[in-house]
Amino acid sequence: MSLHYLNYIDGEWVPATSGKTFESFNPATGELIGVVPESDAQDVANAVGAAARAFEKWRKTPAPHRAEILHTAADLIRARKQQLGELLTREMGKVLPEALGDVQEAVDMGMYMAGEGRRLNGLLVPSELPNKWAMAVRDPLGVVGIITPWNFPIAVPSWKIFPALVCGNTIVWKPAEDTPVLAIEFVKILEEAGLPPGVLNLVTGYGVPAGEALVQDPRVKLISFTGSNEIGKLIAVQCAQLGKRVSLELGGKNAIIVLDDADVDLATDGIIWSAFGTSGQRCTATSRVIVTPGIHTTLAERIANRAAHLRLGNGLLPTTDVGPLINKNAVTKVHAYSEIGKGEGAQLLVGGDYATEGELARGHFYKPTVFDNVTPKMRLAQEEIFGPSLSILRANSIDDAIQINNSVNFGLSASVYTSNVNQAFEAMRDIATGILYINAGTIGSEVQLPFGGTRGTGNGHREGGGPPVLEVFTEWKSIYVDYSGRLQRAQIDTDILVS
Ligand code: NAP
Repeated sequence: MSLHYLNYIDGEWVPATSGKTFESFNPATGELIGVVPESDAQDVANAVGAAARAFEKWRKTPAPHRAEILHTAADLIRARKQQLGELLTREMGKVLPEALGDVQEAVDMGMYMAGEGRRLNGLLVPSELPNKWAMAVRDPLGVVGIITPWNFPIAVPSWKIFPALVCGNTIVWKPAEDTPVLAIEFVKILEEAGLPPGVLNLVTGYGVPAGEALVQDPRVKLISFTGSNEIGKLIAVQCAQLGKRVSLELGGKNAIIVLDDADVDLATDGIIWSAFGTSGQRCTATSRVIVTPGIHTTLAERIANRAAHLRLGNGLLPTTDVGPLINKNAVTKVHAYSEIGKGEGAQLLVGGDYATEGELARGHFYKPTVFDNVTPKMRLAQEEIFGPSLSILRANSIDDAIQINNSVNFGLSASVYTSNVNQAFEAMRDIATGILYINAGTIGSEVQLPFGGTRGTGNGHREGGGPPVLEVFTEWKSIYVDYSGRLQRAQIDTDILVS
């Protein structure tokens, strides 16, 4: 099978105009996964042109028909779940059960958004004047630019592509440079499902120049971006200057709060799963545990013990608990934070080093790391590390714990373990994150509810599911239909009676 892949523009598979390519590798083994186009501004312009030409016809295609294509795509993804999941493990590294979950999320989102084809609810409200209708409908925006990260290479694109399509937009997608082959396989499925040429276009390449060119193109009406805060802020500034709509889903510094009355075994399970699942490379990963004094020592011991016994390796092997990090830079960054933590006076309980024994030397592995006695102002407790690194902080009470939780510049996900219903409700009232779990870890959202965060995690939009995703990909048009046959003036002719 050829490892050479192409861009998808105007319904054709084409190389970069420059002829340049780059390679994608398995982060566990170094195996070559594919050779893909290294697109530049010209390729992006071609893709945007195709999307702009396809828009008129696509927006006039009835939404239920658009939705049928989504439905078919979801069915195809489900049928190829195992194959896609294995490719996902090979290109991105997460263990196979999680990779299959990543793929399943695209099935869920496809089905959910296919249902929207027969809803896409507008508003119909009474008019203040007789013989007049007042209503509002959702219009698509036009060409939307989608820029995605590598950590959920199928799920996150599906959160954006399916709603954008069902709403009647056309798309240019720039996936992450670390997972381009998965993006190509995803687009192939939409092509097979019957998407007309130009409606979805794919350009693989680097953030600069490909992503930047997409942001800058005046024909692109919206940038839907998921990724780091650093790049997200940069894009927000550019979009503001261009008067362009932008939806940002950025990083997290998520905490699990464990109160004295919690079920310690349950909390430990949730912490290990949320901190070390996907090797800590989830935006919702737990990187802080905030614990009250009565349970601190027991919990810290259990977490350290479990973390020390996690088995690192190739995610395709059933014996592997934790896969590799995405690339060399990621491992270097996690290790830098281990050094920072030690320098700040945190107590290293376990890990804190590269994992290079035997086969692991071929990939980008880092030992699951746990620090205790971390204080809220330490960089370990404030900054997104995006790897298998967990900090344990102590709080005096539930109020103190909530205050510590809310004190970081991210507000994505949080969790509270308690057996006291009053404390659970207090947390539900006061925790300032976009997602909150009670007696479950910080990961595992479902597509029928909004996904996104407060403070630095985004700019107030919600993607990933739930009705609010439609707000990102449509704009409102209010329509008044006056069938009175005479001039009627709103706010002025207030005494008019039905004739
Ligand atoms: P990233 O470095 O910000 O990259 C995200 C995307 O932006 C990639 O496709 C990247 O291309 C592109 N890009 C880079 N520079 C650009 C520029 N100047 N203009 C336009 N596009 C540009 O993030 P990442 O490392 O892929 O992903 C990890 C981050 O995503 C973490 O912070 C994580 O928390 C966050 N995340 C958030 C959510 C959420 O829903 N809140 C979900 C998943 C992940 P290259 O790949 O070529 O650099």
